[in-house]
Amino acid sequence: MAKTPVIHCSFCGRNRDEVKILIAGQDGHICENCIEHAHEIIAKEFHQKKAEGKAGTLKVQKPMAIKAFMDQYIIGQDDAKKILCVAVYNHFKRINLPTTTKNEVEIEKSNVIMIGETGTGKTLLAKTIAKLLNVPFAIVDATVFTEAGYVGEDVESMLTRLLQNCDYDVEAAERGIVYIDEIDKIARKGDNASITRDVSGEGVQQGLLKMLEGTDVLVPPQGGRKHPEQKMIKVDTKNILFICGGAFDGIDKIIARRINTNAIGFSVNKEEQELQRKNLLRFVNAQDIKTFGLIPELLGRLPIITHLEPLDAATLRSILTEPKNALMKQYTQLFAIEKIKLTVETEVYDFIVEKAMEYKLGARGLRSICESLFTQAMFEMPGTNATEFTVTIEYAKKMFNKSKLSALKVA
Ligand code: ADP
Repeated sequence: MAKTPVIHCSFCGRNRDEVKILIAGQDGHICENCIEHAHEIIAKEFHQKKAEGKAGTLKVQKPMAIKAFMDQYIIGQDDAKKILCVAVYNHFKRINLPTTTKNEVEIEKSNVIMIGETGTGKTLLAKTIAKLLNVPFAIVDATVFTEAGYVGEDVESMLTRLLQNCDYDVEAAERGIVYIDEIDKIARKGDNASITRDVSGEGVQQGLLKMLEGTDVLVPPQGGRKHPEQKMIKVDTKNILFICGGAFDGIDKIIARRINTNAIGFSVNKEEQELQRKNLLRFVNAQDIKTFGLIPELLGRLPIITHLEPLDAATLRSILTEPKNALMKQYTQLFAIEKIKLTVETEVYDFIVEKAMEYKLGARGLRSICESLFTQAMFEMPGTNATEFTVTIEYAKKMFNKSKLSALKVA
């Protein structure tokens, strides 16, 4: 009669009675000691790989590939996309340069300033790029900053935000991207140096200067001034890419004045006049931004200027359905989770766009209009046996008229 084989760990050879656990595999066993040991090896290996990855060069795709990625999420804005792709590509080339070459030809930082009406996709552009590059990314609003010593946030707090977004991995943060929104709101009023220094404007611009150029900044890890006892973290901003954005309301008149064109008045129809006024943004240059109120030193650190086109009805229509995570795709998905097939009549899309244009809500308004059309169904339908939901133009109009949005107009 065959003897029952003594089972043992296939890795260390210990017998069944020498260990607490033996886990069976297809042709052998493993004990708890070997599992722990294997786990340690894996952890060590991963840690090393991570460290090597950090010290090595950051892989970045070619500008055309970056643009192709952005095209999946952002409709139009080709000029801004191209300029951003090149800026980002060059920025990473600069970071990846070996130090020896760096000394010969110093490639300057390519911080970017984007000018375009609110809701035209400035933040989306910056966000999408950060997603592709897989680097820490922070969005900050320039309006919350005040000169050091005044109520509000110091400019350093934007780095706190960046650090928080990468679990305080300083090395990663030092290669991150910061998007500073509403940079136009810290413009000084008027082109001439103000008699009284304005707290929120020029002082903040001065604060931003050094940071944009590249310097060691002591950052309060929790931000704000409420924790004076906190230990500061040193962050070098040399390789942080700063992208600034703003609507710069009224800059069209400055551009028009410079290029000696009357911004309004030479076109017969109102729509065309508006189009001409908006198209002026294409010609924006550093001089115009300076006249608007950004100090020349700061502009010098934002060498790349680009503009965003205003969104017309056709673009809004595309935004609604085409991007990879277009609003309509999101709603379809939300209903699909409930096993409900959402069908929307084509006319409804046009209606949504028409209302967004009429109420001057831009791309952001598409969402509020859609909410007004779908909320009732999203409230009532889950839990019922419904398998289909068709939004007809009549239904859309009815729901919209019931909504707070339509009330806005009456008021
Ligand atoms: P801005 O920063 O210029 O004020 P955002 O980037 O925040 O504007 O845009 C607001 C929203 O509008 C975005 O979340 C996005 O859904 C939509 N949007 C705006 N422009 C576009 C575009 N060109 N393509 C796709 N979506 C857009």
